[in-house]
Amino acid sequence: MRKLVLVKYGEIYLKGLNRPYFLHALVDRVRQAVQGMGGKVWLKDARVYISDIDDQEECIRRVRKVFGVHSVCPAIETDKDDFEGILRAAEILTAGFTGSFKVESRRSDKHYFLDSPQLNAKIGEHVLMNADGRLRVDVHHPQHTLNVEIRNEAYLYTDVIPAVGGMPVGTGGKAVLLLSGGIDSPVAGYMIAKRGVELTAVHFYSFPYTSEKARQKVIDLAGILAEYCCGIKVYVVPFTRIQMEIHARCPDDYTTLIMRRYMMRIAQRIAEKEHALALVTGESIGQVASQTMEALTMTDEIASMPVFRPLIGFDKIDIIHQAQSIGTYEISTLPYEDCCTVFTPKHPATKPKKSRILEGEKELNTDELVEEAVLNAQIVEISADRQ
Ligand code: ATP
Ligand code: MG
Repeated sequence: MRKLVLVKYGEIYLKGLNRPYFLHALVDRVRQAVQGMGGKVWLKDARVYISDIDDQEECIRRVRKVFGVHSVCPAIETDKDDFEGILRAAEILTAGFTGSFKVESRRSDKHYFLDSPQLNAKIGEHVLMNADGRLRVDVHHPQHTLNVEIRNEAYLYTDVIPAVGGMPVGTGGKAVLLLSGGIDSPVAGYMIAKRGVELTAVHFYSFPYTSEKARQKVIDLAGILAEYCCGIKVYVVPFTRIQMEIHARCPDDYTTLIMRRYMMRIAQRIAEKEHALALVTGESIGQVASQTMEALTMTDEIASMPVFRPLIGFDKIDIIHQAQSIGTYEISTLPYEDCCTVFTPKHPATKPKKSRILEGEKELNTDELVEEAVLNAQIVEISADRQ
């Protein structure tokens, strides 16, 4: 008999012939998540198992954040041919319970000497006899459920701890996330990564107009994303020169929009370098002047690859709730300024005209500015277990 952690997967069930590809990716991601904890991770019969872990609580905390995992169950494994051992494990797992319970058995081994109803009855009876009146059976609305799975071994568990769901990172290709220090972009990145997309982040900073603390804030946000994404690479791009030039040479009400077009140009260059296929932003229709439909069209046309905006139809309050649940909200609301806010014009154009944008951009040496920014980007690699 030994303790282990049983990992259940979700949407991968829907896959057909290519299911093994997704499962192997999931095992790799789980392995990465528990790296350094000394355990063994393997796949068998539609389950991922983790054994020999010293700190089970920390192991579960990490695995719950692995995209593709539906739930995590601390379990006991016993020899399925030792029925006494199964009964003992059932007793151990239900020792602290009071109230109503039921046993729910499943067997993938159809030759097992008991079928599921017989397993339920025999194990339930044993638990009841040893409970000194603490427990009663309720098969419809039990307070506790003891799960028994007869596979290559027997697995018993009572807690089914929900995990993040989604698809294993890496199975959905690669994208570049434009990561500011705000509330929205980390949530946008989370949503796309949850669909199995590997992220590389790009952050624009305008030292000395934005401080070292503002830069560190973004690295910390990326650190939280890294826990879900099995690590993340961040390009920190110096943006001061571009902002100064835009400010000096372009119409004041167009500076934000032109700046955003430069962000897209640079992000796309980095995406090409990283073999990423799309860009991701935290924009949502109408949230600020640069996110009106007209402004978004002007930003969009810069990119020759798809721009994913998973928050496009979200209210701010819903984004905030999501940020709170993934754990980025607290850092996002620290008061350090972003490069966008430093140079914000008083009256940004909400219905921009393309001719005026092009007039403004003609004053700038776009190729050189973009080239220089990409060249001077600093790369920070953040691993999943940095905290
Ligand atoms: P957020 O809360 O994510 O900062 P926002 O509501 O403040 O978004 P904007 O400042 O207009 O909106 O930015 C829109 C999107 O542009 C952001 O969600 C992000 O994807 C990208 N972005 C903005 N500033 C930066 C930056 N300094 N570095 C990288 N990406 C940025
Ligand atoms: Mg912002």
